[in-house]
Amino acid sequence: RNMTVLDVANVLKKDVEHVFKTLEFADKNSDTVYTRDTVIHNPQIVREIVKISGCRFKLVPRPDEVVEEKENKDAVPAPPAPPEALRPRPPVVCVMGHVDHGKTTLLDALRNTSVVDQEFGGITQHIGAFEVRLRSGETVTFLDTPGHAAFSAMRARGAGATDVVVLVVAADDGVMEQTIESVRMAREADVPILVAINKIDKPGVDIQRTLRSLAQHGVVCEALGGDVQAVQVSALKKLHLDTLVEALTLQAQLMELKADPGGYVEGVVLEAQLDPRVGKQATVLVQRGTLRKGCILVAGNGWAKVRMLQSADGRPVLEAPPSSPVSVLGWRELPAAGDTVLEVDSEKRANEVMKWRHSQSMKEKQEEDSEAISEATHRAQ
Ligand code: GDP
Ligand code: MG
Repeated sequence: RNMTVLDVANVLKKDVEHVFKTLEFADKNSDTVYTRDTVIHNPQIVREIVKISGCRFKLVPRPDEVVEEKENKDAVPAPPAPPEALRPRPPVVCVMGHVDHGKTTLLDALRNTSVVDQEFGGITQHIGAFEVRLRSGETVTFLDTPGHAAFSAMRARGAGATDVVVLVVAADDGVMEQTIESVRMAREADVPILVAINKIDKPGVDIQRTLRSLAQHGVVCEALGGDVQAVQVSALKKLHLDTLVEALTLQAQLMELKADPGGYVEGVVLEAQLDPRVGKQATVLVQRGTLRKGCILVAGNGWAKVRMLQSADGRPVLEAPPSSPVSVLGWRELPAAGDTVLEVDSEKRANEVMKWRHSQSMKEKQEEDSEAISEATHRAQ
């Protein structure tokens, strides 16, 4: 039910004239106030108003929506780091492939091998990504959610978080529809592919046939004279998983993946949630700088003073360098998955950025509404 101007005036303890000035769509003749949404979604009402008062209705911002910020107060990424500041960083890997070819089994097997220190008794948690450490000390970061949806979601948001796609192909099944789709997506994103031929423990599997049909789809592995690495694994029996991880570190070296571990932190939010035990939690994949306790971060409409960092195996972490995923506690407001993370100097600065972003989204909403309303009014006349 719509309220009248008088109703609103009483609630606000203001005089009627003030309500007319500040609330939009007030029809002076009938004392009826229409909400913005009612008007946008119901041109019939617009027609009624136009008939009664014979005037057009203009959108007037409510007092709480008045945009004060003029100067751009947003946080922006730092300029590119000088080459001498760059250090090698681990690859960030997304596992893709046809359904039932073993993506989840492979990730579970890799995650378990990553819990090195069993005595620590850490509880592995799904935070969106995890790291596997080799005996050589090198690490590889695996994004936890396999498949198309996760890959395209990250890409759609411009995150560009994935360095390498591990294409899982079951040797008994060979190349299937989603295998081809995965190849297409990786190519489109310009992300190199590393093939994991899975289920080699199964009797009578034909690996050559799989390699040949991959080649037919443009993925020519080294065995056939191409430059794509292929590793034969069994995710179920945990065979050759270390070879797969080593191949990925080699791939990273070939790609010369580098980042500046100094300076302001930059990254991307992989997951964000309200955890009943720990409160506001978000996983950040660090892409530049080194994340530490006490850092002040802004991301989307959220911000944090980092209270605690944890790895996927539940272990407290003191520092998170480039390519490492960490669960971050200390959010005042939660960001959303895909938001860019930027470090700022102070809490004051974080508040300023939040205020600016809030005012910008209000302004956008107002502009959208104004357009929708003038369209609705146009249709009604
Ligand atoms: P996803 O759909 O790609 O995530 O595939 P899953 O990981 O759910 O695996 C599908 C089925 O294949 C499950 O029954 C797994 O146990 C089985 N599987 C996965 N990897 C292997 C493997 O290396 N060898 C065998 N024999 N079975 C496997
Ligand atoms: Mg699965």
